[in-house]
Amino acid sequence: ETSLAHVDETVPEPNRLQNRLVDNPHEHTQFANTPDTDPALPGNREWARQIIAAIPQSTLGVDTVRKHTITDAKTLEATLATAVDAAPAWAALGGEKRASVLRAAAVELEKRRAQLIEVAASECGKTIEQADPEISEAIDFANYYAQLAQDLDTLDGARAIPVKLTVVTPPWNFPIAIPAGSTLAALAAGSSVVIKPATQASRCGSVMVEALWAALDSVGVSRDVLQLAHVSEGELGQVLVSDPRVDRLILTGAFETAELFQSFRPDLQLLAETSGKNSIIVTPHADLDLAVKDVVNSAFGHAGQKCSAASLVILVGSVGRSQRFRNQLLDAVSGLKVAFPDDPTAQVGPVIEAPEGKLKHVLTQLEPGESWAIEPRLLSEDGRLWSPGVKTGVTPGSEYHLTEYFGPVLGIMVVDSLEQAIAAQNATDYGLTAGLHSLDPAEIAQWTSSVEAGNLYVNRGITGAIVRRQPFGGWKRSAVGAGTKAGGPNYLFGLTDWESVPAAG
Ligand code: GLU
Repeated sequence: ETSLAHVDETVPEPNRLQNRLVDNPHEHTQFANTPDTDPALPGNREWARQIIAAIPQSTLGVDTVRKHTITDAKTLEATLATAVDAAPAWAALGGEKRASVLRAAAVELEKRRAQLIEVAASECGKTIEQADPEISEAIDFANYYAQLAQDLDTLDGARAIPVKLTVVTPPWNFPIAIPAGSTLAALAAGSSVVIKPATQASRCGSVMVEALWAALDSVGVSRDVLQLAHVSEGELGQVLVSDPRVDRLILTGAFETAELFQSFRPDLQLLAETSGKNSIIVTPHADLDLAVKDVVNSAFGHAGQKCSAASLVILVGSVGRSQRFRNQLLDAVSGLKVAFPDDPTAQVGPVIEAPEGKLKHVLTQLEPGESWAIEPRLLSEDGRLWSPGVKTGVTPGSEYHLTEYFGPVLGIMVVDSLEQAIAAQNATDYGLTAGLHSLDPAEIAQWTSSVEAGNLYVNRGITGAIVRRQPFGGWKRSAVGAGTKAGGPNYLFGLTDWESVPAAG
């Protein structure tokens, strides 16, 4: 096909990160992940300084966009009606044309990389280092779902029938990548979208949507197909979720939120990525230096506020009995630079708001048998900046072991065998990510076949799933609904209706 040959020519040259290039012979185009910004290049350091200079000090972490907030049911109704009316024309464009909008979105997102990083930093407290890969991920979603949109039109035996309206309710912890990915998937599948950004990340949602609107403009398609609805989580939120015109809802958030949405509307077709309580096992066969680095990054990246984060490290046998791993880990954690993102050296930023409830509890309290190896300390007057904490003596079945907290605390549990470690890893109600550090093939095989989680990582950190390489989504209470994986080959399947077509001949 001539148009696809053209796509091939425009695929970027392999970059320095060659290992991230995916070349699948079963796909008719090559998909390459977008590289993050390399901070080692002097030009990029200057670029980052400019982003930091643009962060408004007065608003660091404070939600400033309220002017577009929909406060009345009439405006919300008009928003929904516009989206539904725009759906047939969008669906009729076909996968090929919709793919061109998504590819244009990738370009528009890349153009706005600095602006998107700035809003993620100022509104949600993301460090530059944590925000930059989010933009790459959003771009990857655009390019990858573009490819899937084309594939949808060419499946044998079944025809994808686009639905009219998909509502997207993303979280604040990945304020660019998740709203972009969910929206782009629904658009790729031929549905109109109403997106309701998290209230803590409303400016991020607006800037992301502006990029997508620019993409629609550039291809000459009406913006009506993508509606932005800043509604509060109260009554109007319920009106939005309960509306009978909503064909699909993509949620990323707490398991309890998914349950609440289902109580609003029991027949709601939900694709939800929900909570996690994730751990990394380190065995005596591990590369301990690598394990320390991966545990620290997985636990404290974005101050631990990721569904995928590691909040527990499970040490097996001699790793737990000796001081070596522990000392190295504690050294690494004490060395982390804790600061707001306007400090270019920040490694651990603030939590989204001053802790209350469960998070306050875990930052300040110990359960029986536990003790602080490093006690978390509050470093800012607004209550949001906490130095990372490490607690030892976490016991199987304890509250810390089983509860999801979204914050900068890591627990250490010591067990005798890999079997015990796997049992502890599987003991939670959730099954999102799980990690193993071991260089022994037998241990890796044993672990891989018995861990109950959606995303398994061996000798790697457990956050930062890469589009297409690590399709993302969990088991158990970490998923509600279709259970398909974001950034994976079947993600669009849950977003359309299906019709069987008679086999030819
Ligand atoms: N996809 C993200 C990761 O792999 C996590 C998303 C989330 O926290 O919801 O780290």
